[in-house]
Amino acid sequence: MCKCWSWTKKRLKRQLRKALIKWDYASCFNMGHQAPFEFAQKLIELLPNSNLGQVFFTNCGSSAVDTSLKIALAYHRSRGDSAKIRFIGRERGYHGVGFGGISVGGIVPNRKAFAGALLPYTDHMPSTHSIPDMAFSRGQPKWGAHLADNLESIIGLHDASTIAAVIVEPVAGSAGVLIPPQNYLERLREICTKHNILLIFDEVITGFGRLGASFAAEKLNIQPDMITCAKGLTNAAVPCGAVLIRNGIYDSIIEQSNKEPGSGIEFFHGYTYGGHPLAMAAGLATLEVYKEQDLFNRANNLAPFLEEAVHSLRKLPGVIDIRNFGLMAAVEFSPIPGKPTARAMDIYHRCFDKGVLLRPTGSSVAMAPPLISEKKHIERIINTIHDCTIESFKNLN
Ligand code: PLP
Repeated sequence: MCKCWSWTKKRLKRQLRKALIKWDYASCFNMGHQAPFEFAQKLIELLPNSNLGQVFFTNCGSSAVDTSLKIALAYHRSRGDSAKIRFIGRERGYHGVGFGGISVGGIVPNRKAFAGALLPYTDHMPSTHSIPDMAFSRGQPKWGAHLADNLESIIGLHDASTIAAVIVEPVAGSAGVLIPPQNYLERLREICTKHNILLIFDEVITGFGRLGASFAAEKLNIQPDMITCAKGLTNAAVPCGAVLIRNGIYDSIIEQSNKEPGSGIEFFHGYTYGGHPLAMAAGLATLEVYKEQDLFNRANNLAPFLEEAVHSLRKLPGVIDIRNFGLMAAVEFSPIPGKPTARAMDIYHRCFDKGVLLRPTGSSVAMAPPLISEKKHIERIINTIHDCTIESFKNLN
């Protein structure tokens, strides 16, 4: 899910070497250097029809998520809405491993060991995934838009005046490629706008071509207030994360801070390595490759082939669901009683031994082929899953 194209692109290595020679480090605390501005500008240009206008660079996806939550609090406070402190996430959501991310996240093992230290003011919408209602959907399921109305119930419970932001992955990746029902995210947007709640799309996986567009926000034509991203941001060559922020949020925080006598620091947050020259060089080279090779469109064109191919596995033993969107897909198996994750783990190991890397998650195996894939690579992935599933059912019961 990290690598969108090859490990060996000469351009990337060349740019990294150049960056290392020019700068080993330059700070972005109370000062700046050229590269983050250049990279930020190019990122914003990926979404020409959006009102996202600022970028905050972080170290990874987890730090991007926690940053976005802090920006939400600072924004509301800057407008005099200091009571807006609550965050709403979703069951089965994954937002990294920071305390903010695990608090809004909805994956039980990621939360339970740290339960005593989760953020207090959070709540969760139900997951959108329901096998009885949407199994074997191709692309976005037709069932489930009404689930967005759970947000209205949560707002009714806590009152909008206490809620800062809603954060969702447009497609839940780590929980096994859970695809948003048609019109579900649109409805979340409407509800958030109505109640002056910020909507954050966590696009650490769905950003940079995975759905056949720059971001899910572009693919679905929805305007979130912030987008968090990482992984494909630098093609995973150098650790880096970012938050893309709607115009007006930055201005509000800066303007309010200028009214308060103090240290001259507008937003007390930032990472030593945010905007690191090497990460910026990797990001700029990565964007050039996406553009030159038209990789987002390439992914979009290949997506129907993946859809056809992955749904051909439907008749295999134990398959209870297959789902796909863009270049992401998952096959879910009926769990072995008492060992719910064993089947997917066994198939994952068998595929790995045959040279195909999947991601086991619960009772599903997920796939996210690189954007440079050709049809023959998809065929290889699907044929390997096919053979390994049959082997698994012969050997593990
Ligand atoms: N958010 C989402 C949606 C992710 O999928 C991930 C990682 O997979 C993260 C956040 C955390 O990113 P990182 O592992 O770079 O901290």
